[in-house]
Parts: sequence; C-alpha cells; structure tokens
Amino acid sequence: MSLATPLEQEPPYTVIQVPPTATDEERMQAVGTDLSRYQWVDDREELPPLEIERNRGIIRPLVKAHFSKIFGQVSQPVMLTHIVTTRCNYSCGFCSFADTLNAISDELSLEEIEKTYATMGGNLNTIVYSGGETTLHKNLPEIIEAAYRLTPVKSVYIISNAWKPDVLFQITHRIKQTCPDLHLTWSLSIEGPKEINNQARHTRKEDWDAWQNTIDTMWGIKQMRKRFGYTELDVQLCTVCTPANRHALDDWYLMVRDTLQPDKWNLNLLRKSVQMGNHEMKSWEARRQSGNPEPFEQKYIEITRRVREDVLSGKLKFLYHTQSPGDGAMKSAVDLISQADNRRVIRGEAPSVCCRAGNDGAYIGSNGEVSGCEEFANNPTDNKTFGNLRDYDYNFQAIWNSEAANRFRAQVNKSPECYGCTLESQKNYPSILVSFKHLWEARQLSQQIN
Ligand code: SF4
Repeated sequence: MSLATPLEQEPPYTVIQVPPTATDEERMQAVGTDLSRYQWVDDREELPPLEIERNRGIIRPLVKAHFSKIFGQVSQPVMLTHIVTTRCNYSCGFCSFADTLNAISDELSLEEIEKTYATMGGNLNTIVYSGGETTLHKNLPEIIEAAYRLTPVKSVYIISNAWKPDVLFQITHRIKQTCPDLHLTWSLSIEGPKEINNQARHTRKEDWDAWQNTIDTMWGIKQMRKRFGYTELDVQLCTVCTPANRHALDDWYLMVRDTLQPDKWNLNLLRKSVQMGNHEMKSWEARRQSGNPEPFEQKYIEITRRVREDVLSGKLKFLYHTQSPGDGAMKSAVDLISQADNRRVIRGEAPSVCCRAGNDGAYIGSNGEVSGCEEFANNPTDNKTFGNLRDYDYNFQAIWNSEAANRFRAQVNKSPECYGCTLESQKNYPSILVSFKHLWEARQLSQQIN
C-alpha cells in the first residue's frame, strides 16, 4: 500500500472551530462528544494506594547518568520503551510495526515482566508503553503497578489508539489511585480531521469512528482529572506527519490548538524504516543528497517551527500537569529541542543530540528482546538485539552488560539505522537529558513557557 497520495485524491475534511471564549462543554458539543455515553467518567471502583516508598526524583538518575557518560561507563537506563504487544485491532500503514502487526507472537506474561523489572537497575525514571495497541494486553494496569513497585519510575506514557474509551478510563482510575505519585500521560494517536484519521486507521468495521473515540477519550480524561482531583495526569494527542495527511496539517494544527486543547500535541515524523517499507518515494539518502525534502518533511519543519513560536508566545498551551509548573515547563522545553533536532535531521545536518540508546535508553520488545532502540531490535537484515530475557532468566542486567550488548552499543550513532533517525523517546529525550548544553537550553526555554 502506498500512502503517497496524489494531490487530486486528497480526501476532503471537516475543520471544527469554536470562539476563543468557548467553555469545555461548548467545545465538547462542537466535536460531538457526549460523555454520558460512558460509564467510567463519573464512576469508579475505590482502590487503596500501593504502600511503596521510593525516591522517584529525576536528579539522582541524571547525576549518575552524567557521571557514567563522563567516565565512559555503561549507564543504567533512565528511560525505557516497552512494547507490551504487537497485536492491534487497527492496521495503519504508518505504524512502526506495520509489517509484523498481528503476526503470531509469544508476548511476555505479567510474571515474566515482574521478574524483569526487579532487575532494571536504580536509574529508571520514565517508561513509554507502546505497541501494537497497548490496552489489548489484558494485564496493562498490573504491568504499570509492577513498574511502580519494583523500579523508581516516576513518569509513564501509554500510547493508545483509544479504541474503547471506557477501558482507558478504568485504567486511569486504577493507576491514579494505586500509584498516586506516578505521573501518567496518555498519548492518543490521531492523524488529523475525522475523515483523514478514519481513512488512515484501516479498522475492520467501515462505520467504526476511531476519531470520535479518541476525542471522547481525551475529553473524558480531562473531565476525570477535574471531578476526582487527580494530579499528575495528562492526555496528549499524537499525530504522525505522513504524505497522506500533510495537506491537512495546517488546519489540523489550528483545530488542536484552538478547539480541542489537549494538554499537549505531538507531531512525529513518519519513521525512516516505515517510509522505505511502504512508500513510493526516493530513499532518505537520495533525498538528502538532492537537498529536496518530501512535502511531508517540509510540512513537519513548518509546523514544528510554528509550535515553538506559539508555545513561547503563550498561544499554545504545552504544559504538563507535573508535580510543579517548573517540571512541566522543562518537559515541554525538551520537546521543543527534540523537534528542532528533527528539523536538522530532515535537512541532512548532523543532529545536535548524540544518541544514548543502549546506555541511558533501553528497549524491551513484546517477546522479551532487549536492545538500545526499536530500529536496532527490529532490523530484519542486521538485527542488533542484545539478548532475550527468556534466555537470561529475566535478568535485565545480565543482558545489559553482556558481550553482545557491548558490541551493539558501540554501533550506536554509527549504524545505517542512525542516519535519518528521528526517534524521540529512544534517541532524542534520553540524549537531551544527559547533555549539559541541552539541559541549559531547556532551562532557558522553560522560563519562557507559561
Ligand atoms: S540513532 Fe536512532 S537508530 Fe541509531 S541507535 Fe539511536 S535510536 Fe537507534
């Protein structure tokens, strides 16, 4: 399937705008959200908190990571990308796992994950749960609770297509009660206005309204935060910039900024490896040599520049609900730096961040493969998996310090996968956090964000 849609085939789409003074209720009505359809926005099962005392601060892991970097030692991961499943009820062509989605897999059980988390080391601060569709793993809440019990994790991101809003609401109620000092962010995938999103989703039922489910989930979580007084809870919308939606992204950005107002909006660039698998376009290398970015790459540059201007001028709210407003502004500043670096990569310039995958960033696949990043772990012709947890009795440290890990770690930044890499949570974020230069830049930017 090609997503390189010619201009004349671009589908029409609907843009919904509301006056700047509109209330949340008016905004919900404008986008067709009726939260009374869902049981678990207003209702919840009362649950006791897990009695766990842990230092979940970011300072200690960062200091240790900086020292390891300075002295050339192998770091313990600060950030983990954990693919809990590659099963999905949708089949989108731009997915990182488009080629292997729903292939028969033997994903790690809760018990196996618990054993692994117990050996993750003392630096882990952030986990990104991804898939496949994360909420299809029936033990997702228990997995998050295991991370909370067994590691010093502070911040958890769950990427979801929000196919069933009530499922996400129930998970939210549970995690916000059992893990009260965990910062939980839902990252909901949405590819633009309704017509474009629903065409991109490739759901089994033609009348399935994936867009409405995502929008309802976003509003539901925002309402739950108010009604139940949940702190450290965020919901962001995530859009992948592709040849199929780039023509609508200016309008979509305005709709997100002015009508939907999620806590945050992410624009991710279509992954290089997915581009080559599914698209009729020149290779990344050929595009860089010619100096001609694809139109969707140009659109990424334009929109992320606009995001930066709007965040710094206060037009776009980009503030996480973290323990303090300063923490939230720092996180937002890190996003702006990450997007600036991706713009450099698109232009063929050397990235300013030096990838720390395999040191401060770790990857665990659904079947137990450990690597530095998803590109290393899933390269079909030159696989760079450090080892499989099942072969090491679930001892993450044994894999992380193995001979294979050292060999592949030495290839970080130097492999073909690395040229053109724009993996935010695996390349950019861990690297920014262990760079004095970028932390200083983030601090300066954060003071302009309010
Ligand atoms: S640059 Fe990208 S592909 Fe290379 S190791 Fe880092 S995250 Fe992986």
